[in-house]
Amino acid sequence: MAGRVSRRTLLLAATGALYLLGGAAAVTRVALAPAATAAPPLPVLPARLPNEAGRILILEYHRIGGDEGRWTRSVENFRADLDRLYREGYRPVALGDVLDGRITLPAGLSPVVLTFDDSSPGQFRYMVRDGDIEIDPDSAVGILLEFHRTHPDFAAKATFYVLPAAAQPHRFFGQPAYEHRKLRHLVELGFEIGNHTLWHHNLARADAATIRHQLASAVRIIQEAVPGYPVRTLALPFGAYPAELAPAIAGESGGTTYRHEAILMVAGGPALSPFAAAFDPFHLPRIQAISAEMDRWLGHFARRPEERFVSDGDPDAVTVPRSRAGLLRTPLPGRVVARLY
Ligand SMILES: [Zn+2]
Repeated sequence: MAGRVSRRTLLLAATGALYLLGGAAAVTRVALAPAATAAPPLPVLPARLPNEAGRILILEYHRIGGDEGRWTRSVENFRADLDRLYREGYRPVALGDVLDGRITLPAGLSPVVLTFDDSSPGQFRYMVRDGDIEIDPDSAVGILLEFHRTHPDFAAKATFYVLPAAAQPHRFFGQPAYEHRKLRHLVELGFEIGNHTLWHHNLARADAATIRHQLASAVRIIQEAVPGYPVRTLALPFGAYPAELAPAIAGESGGTTYRHEAILMVAGGPALSPFAAAFDPFHLPRIQAISAEMDRWLGHFARRPEERFVSDGDPDAVTVPRSRAGLLRTPLPGRVVARLY
C-alpha cells in the first residue's frame, strides 16, 4: 500500500537529517520525483545538516578500462561512479587536504577521496599523433578532467599510488617514453602522487632495511621526475602491514629520506573524520570501487545520512551536532574552532 501519505512519510524519513538552509547559493538541494497523485509539490528539500565528525569515503581504484572485473572498473562504470557521486552530494578533495584538516567544500556537500593504485595505463594514457600529445579521454585522468569541465564544482582531485620499478605495464603508467612527463603532468594538474613501493613489494615479508630501501627508492625515483615533490602518503601493497610500523612511516636509505603522514589500507569501510579523536592516519581504511562496494556504502550513507561527513562551508570551524561532540579531537588542529548545534 503506497498511498500518498505513506509515500511522503517514506521520502521524509529517507532524508531525515535534511533541512532547509535559507537561500544560500552553495547549498545542495535534493530534488524529489513528483508524486504520482495530484498532491501539491513537495518543497525543495534542503541541504544535509553539517556533520564534520562524520565518515569519509576513500575510494580505491585499480585498472580503469576493459571488461569490468574484481580489479578493473570499466570506463562506463567509472563515468557512472563520478555521476552518481556528484548527484549524491559528494565532491573530490585531495587526501593531503583531509590530513591537513582543510576541507573547504560548500555547506551540505561531502568529501570523497579518489585513489588509484598500481599505475596501470588505463589510469593515465597519452595518445600521440603527429608528435602532439593528448591525454586519452578514456583514461581515468582524461575522464576526471572532462567531468570537471562539465561539472566545475566537482574538482579533478585524486592520488595515484605509483610503481616506479614494476614490470610493465605497471611502471609509471606503462608508456616508458613519457614516464617523467606524466608524473610532472599529474602534479601540474593538481593530482597527488603516493608511495606504493618500488614494485608492489609485500612489506609484511620484508625486514626493516628492505622496507626502507623500497620506500626511499620509490621516493627518489618520483623526485627524479618531479624535483622536491613531497610524497606524503603510502598505500600498502596487498594491504600488508610490516611487523613494525616505524620504518613504513619514516626512514632513510641510500641518501633519500621519506616521511609518510598517512598509510592506506586496501579495505575497511569509510574513514573517520580527521577531526575525530579516534582518527588514525596510519591505518586509513578504503573502499574498493567496485559495484558491490559502491552500492553498499553509498546506500549506507543514503540510509544513515547522520553518519556521513557533511561540510559546514566554513574552513575555520568544525561543525557537529551536539550529540556527536564527544567524537571530536581536543584540541582541534590549527586554528579551527568547534561549533556545536
Ligand atoms: Zn597495489
